[in-house]
Amino acid sequence: MFYRDGILFRSDLLTGSRIRHGFSTREGGVSVFPHTRSMNLGHGLGDSQEIVYQNADIFAKTLSDGIYGAESVVITSQIHSAKVRFLSAANCGEGTVLPVGESCDGFVTDCPGVMPIVRTADCTPILLAGSTGDGRPVIGAVHAGWKGSAAGIAAVAVGYMTELGAELSTIRVAVGAHIEVCCYEVGADMVEQVAATAGADFAGKFCTPRGKNGAGEEKFTADLTGMNCFHLQYCGISPEQIDISSECTMCHPDLYHSHRATGGKRGTMGAGIVIMPEM
Ligand SMILES: [Zn+2]
Repeated sequence: MFYRDGILFRSDLLTGSRIRHGFSTREGGVSVFPHTRSMNLGHGLGDSQEIVYQNADIFAKTLSDGIYGAESVVITSQIHSAKVRFLSAANCGEGTVLPVGESCDGFVTDCPGVMPIVRTADCTPILLAGSTGDGRPVIGAVHAGWKGSAAGIAAVAVGYMTELGAELSTIRVAVGAHIEVCCYEVGADMVEQVAATAGADFAGKFCTPRGKNGAGEEKFTADLTGMNCFHLQYCGISPEQIDISSECTMCHPDLYHSHRATGGKRGTMGAGIVIMPEM
């Protein structure tokens, strides 16, 4: 279950001895523009580099009990792909104190102190944690808009985690707040692209007709939660291993940054996860 913890949301499914994680809201940062206020983790949206750095530092420290700051974070340009990168300690600070690294939409790592953060404002933020047979933690973070959700980027991350030794039965997944079926209206062109990516049955299952718009064009609603859960379950993650936020970002624009609710003039939230040092 998701629960509020100060300026963050967390999932009790991911709360474990050496894992710290959090989903940011609009609260607790230092951005002052009306559209980025106050916790914005996105560059190029109006805030200076320094403001975004300070927000990343606050967010990182809040989710890691003050242990890790912005220099531990890895942020990169997201490209609506199904590309996932392995991270090592050498990647720490990319996008905060170092130039961004390779573009991608997901990260996995088994290195303590490396904090991947994915950024969303209606797209689906997904955090993952599991462990190896000898109890070593393995984590992941994924950004999934409709392209990544249809392409199964969450399942790609699970595959990479198992390559690092994580046992499938130990993997837990938290799907953060994103735009839900109530608000996520799309056109026939998108449905066709979903079908081209994941098949007509998949598109039919997760894109539901909802009449026509003023121009007489067919409208649909898209179910990002369903798309991601389908791929996760197909690769062996059971429903009990998945926790899903019940809130829609577009329905709550005061609490969440929402691209659709603002016509694109908005800040960006973060979802971060880190392995704490061995005690
Ligand atoms: Zn909604």
